[in-house]
Amino acid sequence: MPKQPFSNEQTYFALQEVERTHLASQENQSLKLEEERAREKALHFMKCPKCGQPLEETPIGAVRVDQCRACAGIWLEKGELEAIQKEEGGFVAKLFDVFHK
Ligand SMILES: [Zn+2]
Repeated sequence: MPKQPFSNEQTYFALQEVERTHLASQENQSLKLEEERAREKALHFMKCPKCGQPLEETPIGAVRVDQCRACAGIWLEKGELEAIQKEEGGFVAKLFDVFHK
């Protein structure tokens, strides 16, 4: 009977080491991804996605939207269009319908 190159015990510990290395690599990748997201958020927070200049909160009725100081673009967060729609009706309601068809 041919001799096994590795004992069952050696194989077991080798597989344990592979699994431990794989898990450490996954944790390291998750940490890097989290750091990248935090860095991107810090870099772009309250900056215009079109021209990169600072945004400032501007009231439209009772809703405070983000408006660019440079290009005057207006950026809405989740729920703000619906809030303006409820308040304004008319044109905004029709615009909202177009996006939800
Ligand atoms: Zn802008």
